[in-house]
Amino acid sequence: MTGVILNNVIKRYGNTQVIHGVDLQIEDGEFCVFVGPSGCGKSTLLRMVAGLEETTEGQIRIGARDVTRMDPSERGVAMVFQTYALYPHMTVEENMGFGLKMNGFPKAEIKAKVGEASAILKLDDYLKRKPAALSGGQRQRVAIGRAIVRGPEVFLFDEPLSNLDAELRVEMRVEIARLHKEIGATMIYVTHDQVEAMTLADKIVVLRAGRIEQVGAPMDLYRDPDNRFVAGFIGSPAMNFVAGTVKGGQIDVPAIAQSVDAPASATDGQKVLVGLRPEHLVLTTGDALTVELTESLGGVSYAYLTAQTGEKLIVEERGDERSSAGRPVGLGIDSAKVFVFDAQSEIRLR
Ligand code: ADP
Repeated sequence: MTGVILNNVIKRYGNTQVIHGVDLQIEDGEFCVFVGPSGCGKSTLLRMVAGLEETTEGQIRIGARDVTRMDPSERGVAMVFQTYALYPHMTVEENMGFGLKMNGFPKAEIKAKVGEASAILKLDDYLKRKPAALSGGQRQRVAIGRAIVRGPEVFLFDEPLSNLDAELRVEMRVEIARLHKEIGATMIYVTHDQVEAMTLADKIVVLRAGRIEQVGAPMDLYRDPDNRFVAGFIGSPAMNFVAGTVKGGQIDVPAIAQSVDAPASATDGQKVLVGLRPEHLVLTTGDALTVELTESLGGVSYAYLTAQTGEKLIVEERGDERSSAGRPVGLGIDSAKVFVFDAQSEIRLR
């Protein structure tokens, strides 16, 4: 059993602390995604699990073993980097087998393991090619193949798709999901892209400034965010936030010229932020807001609205009726899908 456990993990560079006591349990066979904006500490945390960065304080366990002070090679992990880090003078086959060769594995065994990985990754036709003659997606598959042949207990991915163009990224995302199903190993995957996090993860860890904001299954984070940061980070386009004030069990929301129900924990006079997802809103007749611009993507379009209060909102439209710029509108909301946050602490009120 090879889950990963982080216990009050802290990282300091000199006097600068960048990871502030992270506790996390990743189950055996789980696909865990670390997500958050640039600089939040995702890569540092992953590199600490890999043993590429020293852990200043706390403990990291892989399976039954405390690996905190172990060498990367002793941890039973294999890492796939954003830059594929392939040897340009070696063929695909040699690149994938190089680690095993260096560790003195017999030729026949290397061939068998490379063959297995190449079949999983559909690289059979490219084994004799050098990296320069491969597409970006194929190179990343070789880098993943190199990790597979080592038979690690835990796979670590550091933004593996960010160097690929949009179409290939989608294709490789599906490949990685399939790979996880097929080999069932524990995987930790770092990305700043919430779509990758939503589509790949069993468990998402949302990080901000070296701290965990929330951990949960993708749809749990989407449906039930604990704070404004998570609510705004998960979901695309991002959740709209407008100001409101609690008054007698209701929240007065000037931007949409209507009131919504206040959650039980709200107190009279409390300043709040009301969160409305673009996909939960519909345009109605009214004049509280004006359509500034409509972006049509075919099956769906996004209306960019400005309220009379100056606040901006995005509304998703489906079907053939699309709004046009300059039109005054009102908003229809589903009261079951309104999120409320304290304006100051940004903690969700329930
Ligand atoms: P992410 O992967 O989420 O973009 P990183 O883990 O790369 O973020 O970085 C987390 C924080 O640690 C950042 O604020 C970064 O500036 C800082 N950091 C990373 N490496 C070093 C270093 N060698 N010395 C000092 N600070 C560092």
